[in-house]
Amino acid sequence: MRYSNVRTAYGPRYYRSKTEARWAAWFDRMQIPFHYEPSKVDLGFCNYVPDFYLPDQNAYFEVKAGNYGPTQIKKIKSLAEVTHCHTYLFGNGRFAEEPNNRQGYGYVWRPDGSLYGDDYFTWCICPICDAVDVALLGKAKNMTCQCIRTTKRTLYADEHVRIARAFKYVAPLFPNPRRTTPPHPRRGTS
Ligand SMILES: [Zn+2]
Repeated sequence: MRYSNVRTAYGPRYYRSKTEARWAAWFDRMQIPFHYEPSKVDLGFCNYVPDFYLPDQNAYFEVKAGNYGPTQIKKIKSLAEVTHCHTYLFGNGRFAEEPNNRQGYGYVWRPDGSLYGDDYFTWCICPICDAVDVALLGKAKNMTCQCIRTTKRTLYADEHVRIARAFKYVAPLFPNPRRTTPPHPRRGTS
């Protein structure tokens, strides 16, 4: 599928796509500090300008609405390795999908360049310590803070009311979100 990026105004600046503008608006709504297009990073084989840097998470946040290929994956993996930061790759995710469908939100690379987890990540708020970060399958027990360790009953930290409200607020700001569920990077990306 071809996906054409539409330059989109949000706040004092333009973003390269609606999806990027959506995420910027969502970070604002969530009070998650971000730097859009931070300094160029020398990846060895190319210079790369990341989409977002999130200082609170010490992570890069890459946005791909639509499909991505091996070249994109290589750049994201290298970005994690070179900067020693976790690197997230997210699509349109919850802006375009039904509230109860938690498929296709994002993936995370570790600072050593390895892909973290076998499944999707979503944005979460820890119900105990209020930490905001992404976690595998949106489960509270998968959050880095480790406040919740029980496995008896699954608690989904991505169902936190502040998260749901922020998506609901941002979704209509930039119309025509497309449903995009790119394949998991380990299951092929062509
Ligand atoms: Zn916590």
